Amino acid sequence: MDFELSEEQILFRDQVAKLAGRELAEGALARAHAPGFPFDVAKLFAKHGLMGITIPEEDGGQGGALMDAVLAIEQVARACPRSADVVQAGNFGPIRTFAEYATPEQKRRYLAKLLAGESVIGLGMTEAEAGSAVTDLRTSAAPDGDGFRVNGGKVFTSHSAEADVFLVYLRYGPGVEGIGSVILERGMAGFSFGEPSSYLNGERWCALYFDDVYVPRENVLLGPGGFRKQIAGFNAERIGNAARALALGRYAFDAARAHALARRQFGRPLCEFQGLQWKFADMRTRLESARLLLWRAATRADRGLPSAEDTAMAKLACNEAGFFAANEAVQVMGGTGFSQEALVEYCFRRTRGWQIAGGSLEMMRNRLAEIVFDRRFPQRPPKPG
Ligand SMILES: Cc1cc2nc3c(=O)[nH]c(=O)nc-3n(C[C@H](O)[C@H](O)[C@H](O)COP(=O)(O)OP(=O)(O)OC[C@H]3O[C@@H](n4cnc5c(N)ncnc54)[C@H](O)[C@@H]3O)c2cc1C
Repeated sequence: MDFELSEEQILFRDQVAKLAGRELAEGALARAHAPGFPFDVAKLFAKHGLMGITIPEEDGGQGGALMDAVLAIEQVARACPRSADVVQAGNFGPIRTFAEYATPEQKRRYLAKLLAGESVIGLGMTEAEAGSAVTDLRTSAAPDGDGFRVNGGKVFTSHSAEADVFLVYLRYGPGVEGIGSVILERGMAGFSFGEPSSYLNGERWCALYFDDVYVPRENVLLGPGGFRKQIAGFNAERIGNAARALALGRYAFDAARAHALARRQFGRPLCEFQGLQWKFADMRTRLESARLLLWRAATRADRGLPSAEDTAMAKLACNEAGFFAANEAVQVMGGTGFSQEALVEYCFRRTRGWQIAGGSLEMMRNRLAEIVFDRRFPQRPPKPG
């Protein structure tokens, strides 16, 4: 067993670190507080091969492995936490599910702009009445001529204020087997948006409304029976969620460490107080152990999609470790850590959100319990009779 990165991975990691340090570190604070998607960063990453890292070369990607994309998130976040979202959008999010299942014609139409950093894709999965119970979704596609009429709506879609393409989960018929997905474009007749709303973490989202939107057959990504494939693709998104949570926890840890060395109270540097030393010991241990699970999940997936078990464990561990470290870092840094002049409070707010987004901590635990006991634990009440 080898816990070290390969020579190639070290080379890639160091190249990304250099690029991020040179181009992104300086504007990191301003970027964290700027609304909107940083398309300038996306274009920079496109130029340097950091978009579509795991997408095959014949589709315009880099043909790399999931672990490369995880390393990219880690290194980018060390210089600029906000820019890690761009690595997510260009590699792990709906773009990955799209690239996995799209037809050659669909890839030709949408991938080039996404991989060039000129456009971003949103994922419309959650509905007002279908959150953790995502298979309760009601957005529907009814056959109409050579396409479908889509009706319904979505909430909480990341990048919904800026995206011009959306991967939308919907149902063609009843039950889990009726679920699939389509690609919608901003501007389609009947597709409208609510006013932007903000999360605690500063991200904005708009409600999506579908009022008899006509979707041609060419825009169907997955037909009925596509739900399991979509969730398999979504596991890649969860790895990106986990990687960012861990990377921002690490950023906060590093900032708090530097602060504890420099800041003096009672005539001594903070790092000499045992009450704070133990916080660092715990932060470090949790970050490192979560990273082992993350790296294992990514390495086992290689050029494919990560398994549900590896993903659930990695997301649970990274979400908890990242938030734990960011929260402790705020405490260690006192008023400075709680202030918007430092990025630690930003890391705290972002890592909090990832405990809910992409499948909450509780849903990850539910999934793992089923794996542990090798049986289903239906969450719905038993049917009468
Ligand atoms: C920052 C952020 C970004 C997001 N981005 C997107 C996006 O891009 N696209 C998208 O479609 N959605 C997105 N979401 C929505 C996200 O997927 C949902 O918020 C999440 O699935 C939880 O659904 P809910 O908010 O409706 O909470 P609910 O499902 O109502 O759950 C409320 C609480 O109850 C718990 N709970 C529910 N059921 C169970 C159970 N069976 N056992 C134990 N506990 C349970 C949950 O864990 C949670 O703590 C985002 C959310 C956040 C916070």
